[in-house]
Amino acid sequence: MDCLFCSIVAGDLPSERVLEDDHVIVFRDIQPQAPTHLLVVPRRHLASMDELDDPALGGAILAAARRAARDAGLTDGWRLIANTGTDGGQEVPHLHFHVLGGRRLGRMLPG
Ligand code: 5GP
Ligand code: ZN
Repeated sequence: MDCLFCSIVAGDLPSERVLEDDHVIVFRDIQPQAPTHLLVVPRRHLASMDELDDPALGGAILAAARRAARDAGLTDGWRLIANTGTDGGQEVPHLHFHVLGGRRLGRMLPG
């Protein structure tokens, strides 16, 4: 399958990996929106959260996000985002979570 993040997982395209385990890889976003902007990506191809049918994989993703945030020194907080589908603004159709931190992020929900 022709998938950008599958190619990154396979190592056919370069990325700046900061962490990896059996289930996920974590690498720097090419267009960072904050001083730390990482992408947590399952090795297995799933198009989006709509296809995340494995609770163990969901747990592995969350654990990797937390570990990557800690390793990045985000002691003042950070944000985890999974844009999902067209209305969710997802551009790359391989499930990924954004880890954002290193500056005060604006509120995204009505206060
Ligand atoms: P989405 O809008 O799908 O939630 O986010 C996709 C993210 O992937 C964007 O933040 C974009 O900057 C990032 N991205 C797109 N292509 C590449 C790439 O080739 N390498 C890396 N490291 N990030 C990418
Ligand atoms: Zn893929």
